[in-house]
Amino acid sequence: MRILAPRCHYIDMEHISDHDLERYHLGMVVDEAELTTLEEHVLACPKCADRAESAAEYVDMLRVAIVTGNFDL
Ligand SMILES: [Zn+2]
Repeated sequence: MRILAPRCHYIDMEHISDHDLERYHLGMVVDEAELTTLEEHVLACPKCADRAESAAEYVDMLRVAIVTGNFDL
């Protein structure tokens, strides 16, 4: 049986999750401490900086789709 990973928060976070990268790019991270942690991690971690860029592209693509009405909600 697989043991579920504990829901550790940013204090002992290794990398930012895709979900959080998307939230970050969408400006949905409103908590000052969380925002700072995310920004600091992205600045210090090239891997997550890369992923942040991918998330940004993905989010922008979705945004364009929503605006142009090609995205069926
Ligand atoms: Zn990272």
